[in-house]
This record gives sequence, C-alpha cells and structure tokens, in this order.
Amino acid sequence: MISKILIANRGEIALRIVRACKELGIKTMAVYSEADEQSLHVQLADEAICIGPAQSHLSYLKADRLIAAAEIGDVDAIHPGYGFLAENPDFAEQCEVANIKFIGPKSQTIREMGDKAVARKIVKEAGVPTVPGSEGPIKDDKEALKVAKEIGFPVIIKAVAGGGGKGMRVAHNAPAFQKEFVMAQAEAEKAFGDGSVYVEKYLEAPRHIEFQILADEHGNVIHLGERDCSVQRRHQKLIEEAPSPFLTDELRQEMGQAAVRAAEACGYQNAGTIEFLVDGEGNYYFIEMNTRIQVEHGVTEEVTGYDLVIRQIKIAAGVRLELKQEDIRFFRHAIECRINAENPSRNFAPCPGEISLYYAPGGHGVRVDSHVYGGYTIPPYYDSMISKVITYGRTRRLALDRMNRALSEYLIRGIETTTPFTRAIINDPVFRNGEATTRYIEEFMNRTPKSFYLSNEP
Ligand code: ADP
Repeated sequence: MISKILIANRGEIALRIVRACKELGIKTMAVYSEADEQSLHVQLADEAICIGPAQSHLSYLKADRLIAAAEIGDVDAIHPGYGFLAENPDFAEQCEVANIKFIGPKSQTIREMGDKAVARKIVKEAGVPTVPGSEGPIKDDKEALKVAKEIGFPVIIKAVAGGGGKGMRVAHNAPAFQKEFVMAQAEAEKAFGDGSVYVEKYLEAPRHIEFQILADEHGNVIHLGERDCSVQRRHQKLIEEAPSPFLTDELRQEMGQAAVRAAEACGYQNAGTIEFLVDGEGNYYFIEMNTRIQVEHGVTEEVTGYDLVIRQIKIAAGVRLELKQEDIRFFRHAIECRINAENPSRNFAPCPGEISLYYAPGGHGVRVDSHVYGGYTIPPYYDSMISKVITYGRTRRLALDRMNRALSEYLIRGIETTTPFTRAIINDPVFRNGEATTRYIEEFMNRTPKSFYLSNEP
C-alpha cells in the first residue's frame, strides 16, 4: 500500500507526478529549493518542504535531506522523476535501507545498468546486439588505439558513467584518437567523478529508437512500443515521436522482443527504456538503458492510452501487471517537442528570467506538460526545458499539422525560447518525410538561414 509519496524533483515532472497521485488518491509531499518556492508543483502538492538553497548540489541532489524530509512527512514511497537522483544507485539504496519504497528498479539494477560497459555485457549475453566495441572499459591509450583500429574508424569514446550526452568524443582517425581519448577520460572524470571510458564504432547517420518497458515485481515484462528520438542537438533530444516513421512491423516486433530480453536479463522492475541505434539497413544495436521514467514518456501514453506514471506507482505498490504484450495497441501517431528557454540566435544560450505573458496552446489533439505560467520567473540554476508540447492524430500527417498549429499559438513573452526553431523543423520537408537521423539538426542548421527559425511569425 502506498498512501503518501515524496516527490524528489522539480519542474514539469514533479507536477506530472502530483497529477498522477491526485488521480490515484495518494497524498503528495513536494520538496523545493529556495529558488522554487513559487513553483506550481509546490503549490499543487498536499505538503511541501524546503530542502536547501537554489543550487542543485545543495538541495535536489542532497540524498540525506530527501530521506530526512521523507521521514518527517512519514511517506511510504519516493518518486525520483528523471535527472537529479533518479539514476543514483546510492540514493535508491538509502531508500531501501530506510524502508521507503523507491519508485523505480532495485538499487543493484540501477548500479549495473548505469555502468554502460556492464550494461553492454549483460544485454549481449541475452542475445541483444550491441554496437561493436571494446569488451569493457580501457585505461591505456595504446591499448585503446589497438581496439579502435580493430573496430575501424570512426569510433566514439564514451564514459561508462555517461549521461545527458556528456563525456562522448568521436575520433575519425588514428592521429586524432590519442588526443580525443585523453580528453574523454578527463571530461568523464570531471562530469561523473569516474574517468573510465570505452570505445565503440561510431555509426555515421543512425536513428535513435528506444523501447518503453514496463516490468512488475512478479516477473512480468512487456514493452509499449518505440519512440523515435533521432532529432537531437549535441546528443540531446529535441523532438520524439511514435511510431517511428522508419520501422516496419517486423522490425518493431523483433526490436521489442530484444528490449524485453534486455530488461529480463537485468531483473528489471518498474518503467524503463532500452535505447537502440538503427542504421539505414535496419541493423539495430543496444546503446544504453535508462532506469527511470523519461522526459518523452508522454508520447507513449498518447499512442497506447496507458498512464506510465500511474503504472509506475502501482508496480511499486506490488500490483501485478494485468496487461499482456498482445493487449498493447498503437492506435494513433503522437509527437513531442521540447520547448527550452534558450536563445537559438546566441548558440542556444540558456535564457532564464520572468515570463511576462503566457498562453499555452490547446484544442483537439494537443497536450502541454509544463510547470510555467505568466508571471513565473525561470531560475538560472536548472535545466532549460520549460515545456513539452505533445500533439496526436490518426496519422503522422495530422499529428504534425496539429503540432505546427499548436506551436503557432504558443505565446511566451519576456524570454527567448526554442519554439520558432522547433516549428521550422516541424515544417521542414526532410523531417516531414520521416528521413531524420541523429545528424539531422546539424544538416538542417547548415542549410537553413537563421531568419527562418528565429521568429514565430506564421
Ligand atoms: P547519454 O547517456 O549521454 O544520453 P547515449 O549513449 O544514450 O548517451 O547516446 C546519446 C546519443 O549519442 C545517441 O542518441 C546518438 O545520437 C549518439 N551516439 C551514441 N553512441 C553512438 C554511436 N556509437 N554512433 C553514433 N552515434 C552515437
């Protein structure tokens, strides 16, 4: 039984969790930093407690304070959301020790799958294809160069502890390799406190296609289809959609089964995502698992009709998954645009500040998940994503036309946002034709005059 949940997060995901709890009749306790007192998640939760100063490392990343808050609030469970401590195995373990249910997989699973080299090994043993690469982490640059030559250039050097697109460097030839290798190690050490890296083949223009997993605590594992997240800037997703315009039914089935095998292999529980890269010939390769709810989960909710956050909570309460794989149907197309408070004309520099006027789009087929409102001040301390616009329709074409319409209505004054940039992509013929790979944004920016995407005029 779960009757009260502490939400160890902020922003739109904290609000999303509050909403799910309200529908389930579960009480919520929000936490907030001194910069977030005016946040919507604080206002809408049943209780709220301040856990420290604005900087994340003094508040949202302070595991001890979160556990103390949970004890004060006498909650049954903690929902970590995404980011912050969501994939921190020590935090999950602290929850386990304190007998507070962590809404996610076991700490041991987070630890194993959070190490990308270990994760590769686990899924490979389950017969899931991985990108050709080194057996595990490599320390020595000479040894690494030998492996790189065996794999064949270009290669990508990745931090085993990597996340958020950080700690990855591409080397196109042997002379460049040594330099990139040492830099990747240094970057990984700085960003994650762990300099371990491994080497894998760099795929030139793949698609990023991931599968949503649901696994209960009784051994039942299913997938809820894929999301195509190929539209990325600097390895960060900007647009996600389902179904993928690239996958055939046959490939979808095969990859879905592989994703389920990967989740079973690590004894997965709760909601998670298996990420693959897919080349032009339809060869697919596991790259990593995200052991948490993802930003783009709403896309899957809109094509399948299932509420993933509610499912997470039920699974954590020990409820058996009554859904079977054959029950999952994809009955329409959905697409999500992440809207960031960033200035595209200044190389996407973050753009915090007060929103003087705010009007969110609505109407048939539109969902907006956001914590901002008119008069709200975006603090400079956190992620720049301020909203997710999801549109859906019977066909991809309808979903895209709706997205174009929704973005044209979106009014956010006082700060710069990526709305016009995103809208230019939605109307770009290459994207419309379903041809975007992970190289797409770079190509788009090279061939498109800036004036095209700096203004939201129709
Ligand atoms: P992170 O955990 O930092 O998000 P991922 O391993 O998920 O890193 O990779 C993020 C993105 O980086 C992928 O979606 C893809 O665009 C790019 N990428 C990662 N590995 C490769 C590879 N082997 N070849 C080409 N691109 C890659």
